[in-house]
Amino acid sequence: MNVPFVSFLPMEHELDTELRAAFERVYERSWYIEGKEDEAFEKAFADFCHVNYCVGTGNGLDALMLALKALEIHAGDEVIVPSNTFIATALAVTYTGATPVFVEPDIRTFNIDPARIEDKITEKTKAIMPVHLYGQPCDMTPIMEIAKKHRLYIVEDCAQAHGATYKGQRIGSFGDAAGFSFYPGKNLGALGDAGATVTNNEALAQKVRALGNYGSDYKYHHIYQGNNSRLDEMQAAFLAAKLPHLDKMNAERRRIAQLYLNGIHNKEVILPYVIPEAEPVWHIFAVRCKRRDELEKYLNEKGIGTNKHYPIPMHMQKCYADLGIQQGELPIAEEISATELSLPMFYGITDEQVQYVIDTINNFR
Ligand SMILES: *Cc1c(COP(=O)(O)O)cnc(C)c1O
Repeated sequence: MNVPFVSFLPMEHELDTELRAAFERVYERSWYIEGKEDEAFEKAFADFCHVNYCVGTGNGLDALMLALKALEIHAGDEVIVPSNTFIATALAVTYTGATPVFVEPDIRTFNIDPARIEDKITEKTKAIMPVHLYGQPCDMTPIMEIAKKHRLYIVEDCAQAHGATYKGQRIGSFGDAAGFSFYPGKNLGALGDAGATVTNNEALAQKVRALGNYGSDYKYHHIYQGNNSRLDEMQAAFLAAKLPHLDKMNAERRRIAQLYLNGIHNKEVILPYVIPEAEPVWHIFAVRCKRRDELEKYLNEKGIGTNKHYPIPMHMQKCYADLGIQQGELPIAEEISATELSLPMFYGITDEQVQYVIDTINNFR
């Protein structure tokens, strides 16, 4: 049997009529940037996240970077990020001129460990960026308490967790702002690049919008040296077509995750742990295994697609050599990079495929 790591086909098949209608509507109107589709999706996505404002951006990296810029984070500042995340979290900080400061995760949940944050706070610290990695909500209550005590901003990286909740509240609605990515593989994906910043702060939303539109608050009036990072009409229309199906598709991911959690019994394979306050959306189903590379090769040979998120921790990447962090300084991030394996997880994977993955893992010796 073949089980791809990810496939968009079942979802695209189910939404075929809606997606084609979205294309037709935009194409017939012949209006591609800053229009009705963008406005409608922003409103719908703000409602979905239970926040007041949503500003579409060109991608998730910009959604985070523009939020940090709007909060006036700049060179000389420090921003706390987890030591294990996709590089975009740290790059969003770097692009403002500020320095990312890595805090180790709780290895059971893969998310930033609130107990380790205060050690890394200095006079330069301006913000904390919790990343709801793999679709698992971070432990927000202690993180919010730390931020309040030290007067720090919170910018949530929600790129992998559209629709997840913590104590019943949607992630993205806890911080001063949050950034989402609609990269095609995300739980809510465009048919290209797209992103959004959400916030409850009206002034901040306006500033993010201006910063992503050449720093312009009014046509040809430029109040900031901004970027060009807008959500285009075509992608907004596709996203609006998909959004009403997101909760259902996330629920299906939860059902699949439960099959894995109940079915995988191999002493060598450590399953992900979910904190009781969280309802995750399983962007990625991440297991850990000491013999990860052997397990990966074995599964691939049996026709099962896998991935590693992420094979090289950020402090070991060439682009961050200037941070001067040595191998061994962030041992948990390094341990995760060396042992994490992502199993097939997507809307439309069949129960037979999931059972095959379970049986194959259980037979791994
Ligand atoms: C995908 C992702 C981003 C960046 O989103 P893009 O749309 O690819 O720019 C940021 N943070 C995390 C955790 C991501 O997974």
